[in-house]
Amino acid sequence: MLIDSHTHIGNIPFEVGKNRVNNLPGKDLIISLEKYKIDFAIVSGIEGAEFDTDFNLASKKMQVSQKEGLERILGFVRNNLNKVRALFWIKPYTELLTKEIENILADNRDLICGLKVHPTLSNLKFTDRRFYPYLEMAVSHGLTVQVHTENDGRSNIKFVGKMASIFPELKFVMVHMGMDSDNGEAIALIKGTSNIYGDTCVVKHENIIKAIKECGADKILFGTDSIVNGIDTCKKYIPLIEKIRETFSEKEAANVLGLNSMRIFDLPVSLK
Ligand SMILES: [Zn+2]
Repeated sequence: MLIDSHTHIGNIPFEVGKNRVNNLPGKDLIISLEKYKIDFAIVSGIEGAEFDTDFNLASKKMQVSQKEGLERILGFVRNNLNKVRALFWIKPYTELLTKEIENILADNRDLICGLKVHPTLSNLKFTDRRFYPYLEMAVSHGLTVQVHTENDGRSNIKFVGKMASIFPELKFVMVHMGMDSDNGEAIALIKGTSNIYGDTCVVKHENIIKAIKECGADKILFGTDSIVNGIDTCKKYIPLIEKIRETFSEKEAANVLGLNSMRIFDLPVSLK
């Protein structure tokens, strides 16, 4: 059982993130999952980005609305029900949480397993009040929150710590465990906070092993950012999978490589 808890698709008219991506075809993600024998994936649509790589706010006509982004990702899940579930990528800078969006989420709750929050690409501190209505909605619908982390004044580790104490009912998965850091602050926070988890995406392999040892094998999730570097994004994680299997017990490795995602995002995957 191998579950990638962190993947992306989507098509927007501006470049986002450090990889400066704007077009990630869903069919390429499915090809990649099959090629690398990933059983299941949690996917979010980059259409949720509000600012481009260089922190320019995308013009109104370049923005893909929350509703459109949500409908696109739901369509992708419906076409690949045995392979993926979606995160709803929120747009708190340019939009509000409307009743219409909440109704779409409620009606498709079985296809959505959480929220994607990217404070950097929303150009907001994660502690900003504009996130609160979305997090309150996540509480009422039992959605897990996947949050980008990077100490850039927006997606800081300590902001996640604060929000996890304000919303103790929510589970927060800190992807990248503090991108471009030594991951020490993230590891300490995950270790000391019951509702905060971390993922392996773009984290040095030695730090992932350290995180599993210090935080416990039930706190770290396998995730790769496929397919932001193309169909073979996952390739560099194959040695990591082997390293986790040889370093930890069968049960611990199974947790990191899939069971944690199943449990934390309540995925409809049967064990094999
Ligand atoms: Zn990502």
